Amino acid sequence: METPKRIVKDSMIGLRMPDFARLSPRVATVLGQNPGPFTGPGTNTYLLGTDGAPLLIDTGQGVAVYPDKLAAALRELCATSAPAGIVLTHAHPDHIGGVRQVRERFGAMTARKLPWPERDSVGAPITPIARDAVIEGEGVTLRAIFTPGHAPDHLCYYLVEERALFTGDVVLGAGTTVIPDDSGDLGQYLDSLRRLLELDLETIYPAHGPVIRNPGEKIREYIAHRELRERQVMAALADGPHEVMTIVKRIYTDVPEHLHQAAASSVRSHLRKLRGEGRAVEHENRWGLA
Ligand SMILES: [Zn+2]
Repeated sequence: METPKRIVKDSMIGLRMPDFARLSPRVATVLGQNPGPFTGPGTNTYLLGTDGAPLLIDTGQGVAVYPDKLAAALRELCATSAPAGIVLTHAHPDHIGGVRQVRERFGAMTARKLPWPERDSVGAPITPIARDAVIEGEGVTLRAIFTPGHAPDHLCYYLVEERALFTGDVVLGAGTTVIPDDSGDLGQYLDSLRRLLELDLETIYPAHGPVIRNPGEKIREYIAHRELRERQVMAALADGPHEVMTIVKRIYTDVPEHLHQAAASSVRSHLRKLRGEGRAVEHENRWGLA
């Protein structure tokens, strides 16, 4: 069997990130202070701009100490007291959970995102933007890029001046992107990755983990990883039908058992994709080739 390069046990939990770091003339990051099994060292929020009040990409989860860290970063960075506005990658709680808190502390700024009405209620107004929105800040131009799959409302943001991409949860600095059972779509996710490959990219600023300086290689690695998993799932189905956990135990031989539930979620995303393509069928919780 082929050996996968990245597996679920490639955990982000041990990884530490600074509370604040200036990353380029236009970009700085403030850590969301929300470490955990699904967020690694926590959500990276980003401040963008050259002069004056910067834009804030994502807000973390709403952790009490975050506004203090953000205030300290603003003082250090540009001697301003508030961001100019909020731009959001998607409606998962570790990205939009801090919107209300940031507005309460720093004033009623706009919070823009692609709408996902079921998930957008954060106790603060959300300003809808289009899939291809262009957002201007002080010395920065952001182009939204629709990248569904991890979440149906996901936008990445291309920073024109630096040929850099804020990937949210589509490409991570460490660990593996989850395709949620309820609202994820692996086929859409792969399409999104392939579209990102077409961009002229120098840098990726992910929502979790360190900055990525080899964007093309990283995105290709992500695609190759999912394609490998798909081949492994197909191979398992060939002598099926099997229950999902049987397939997990067969493919994730080098992953400890307590991570098998997370792995099962990944396998289910592959099975749904294969079923959608007419290549797999399910009967009484057992999956086989179509
Ligand atoms: Zn997410």
